[in-house]
Amino acid sequence: MTGRSPLRSIRRDVADRPFIVIWEATQACPLACLHCRAEAVPDRHPGELTTDEAGELMRQVAAFGRPAPLFVITGGDPGPYIRPDFCRWGRATYVIGR
Ligand code: SF4
Repeated sequence: MTGRSPLRSIRRDVADRPFIVIWEATQACPLACLHCRAEAVPDRHPGELTTDEAGELMRQVAAFGRPAPLFVITGGDPGPYIRPDFCRWGRATYVIGR
């Protein structure tokens, strides 16, 4: 042992900004797995963020500055791709995160 902790530590002040932001973009999923913790439903919920609201969420996360929080888009099956605006988010997160 070198005296170093085997655990990784977070090198940022989590009181200043989140380490990670996980956005569950949709609950829509055609499956009904018993273990589902997402309470998935067959169709998209009308209360999901709109495309514009999703863009605003990304801008707010980007406003934390560097180091940027990890930004995870998840939800649904086959993933958040079920939303037709998913490709726009990919481009937006790339541009915002640069
Ligand atoms: S969201 Fe995932 S776990 Fe939940 S029902 Fe769909 S495939 Fe299963």
